[in-house]
Amino acid sequence: MTSVLLTGCGSLVTNNASHGDGSRLGLVADGALVIDGDRVGWLGSRRDAPPADAVVDLGGRAVVPGFVDAHSHLVFAGDRAEEFAARMAGEPYTAGGIASTVTATRAASDEELAATVARLVAEMTRQGTTTVEVKSGYGLTVIDEARSLAIAGRVTPETTYLGAHVVPAEYADDVAGYVDLVTGPMLDACAPYARWVDVFCEQGAFDADAARTVLSAGMRAGLQARIHANQLGHGPGVQLACELGAAAADHCTYLHDADVDALAQSGVVATLLPGVEFSTRSPYPDAQRLLAAGVTVALATDCNPGSCYTSSMPLCIALAVREMGMSPAQALWAATAGGAAALRRDDVGHLGVGARADLVVLDAPSYLHLAYRPGVPLAHAVWRAGHQVA
Ligand SMILES: [Zn+2]
Repeated sequence: MTSVLLTGCGSLVTNNASHGDGSRLGLVADGALVIDGDRVGWLGSRRDAPPADAVVDLGGRAVVPGFVDAHSHLVFAGDRAEEFAARMAGEPYTAGGIASTVTATRAASDEELAATVARLVAEMTRQGTTTVEVKSGYGLTVIDEARSLAIAGRVTPETTYLGAHVVPAEYADDVAGYVDLVTGPMLDACAPYARWVDVFCEQGAFDADAARTVLSAGMRAGLQARIHANQLGHGPGVQLACELGAAAADHCTYLHDADVDALAQSGVVATLLPGVEFSTRSPYPDAQRLLAAGVTVALATDCNPGSCYTSSMPLCIALAVREMGMSPAQALWAATAGGAAALRRDDVGHLGVGARADLVVLDAPSYLHLAYRPGVPLAHAVWRAGHQVA
């Protein structure tokens, strides 16, 4: 096993309060870190660094944990740039636009879908994302959902079965029949390729009863639950997530006080997706309200061809700070440790001894620049599982 010493870190974010300044970010000034194989072997002050097989001097650049993007929809074909343009001209976003992507995805070959996923994951990696969750949900047939998940599984273990994304056109008059399919033959075909089960619980998609049926069936099949909830209006999704012990409730834009309380009590992570509000010109969720109540908050891209076609976690951090009132420290934590919590992972999202060596070297002296310099490609180098991948 070879070791690499990264030294000369102007500042090193560990997300471990026992390191450095004792803050939630565990910020080590003038730090160093040793990568042993695929793990972090040591970290601390530069002057205490042990010897290693190789040494890389970062010249004062900041190091942060690799971003954990816990919500994306990368398996699709076609794009919806025209719909975006229409929306910017004043048309509202609704759940129905998904249908056009479903048509294109069904018509695409496995190779085309896999190429799109690989291209988008590479794009994410270049921007510092080292863990990504990928959902199905644009196939909506047994075969197309199963192949979507098989393709997603080539790039990540965090695969999510989202057969209940919308009701496809052929079931428009038989929602119960579609729920039967999603919880029956489609689940049987998809469960071997999925870790998670998800449902779009929203007006125009699935109501509380259908969503409960979908998630419960998935959990019986050994999948863990997560949910699209309270995006377009006050809905039952967040309460359902808390009732079922889901890992995360995603969007959380429209919340009653009881929803915030339920998230805080249950420990369900609220994953905020500010790129969606940015791209749909919609009101942002109130991050401070959640944080003040003690809710664990994650940030993710929701990268998808309809409501938000960005793959950039740094953009989401900048938006969270500018538009949702998060501090740069809160936003970075949410984009790393928060994302890991949303995926129930303790090996990523932080830099401590034994953690997977996933990190981003920033072309900046401090993580603050992620929010301070929006739109600038700050990822100087990206390491994943001990290998430099970008
Ligand atoms: Zn989504």
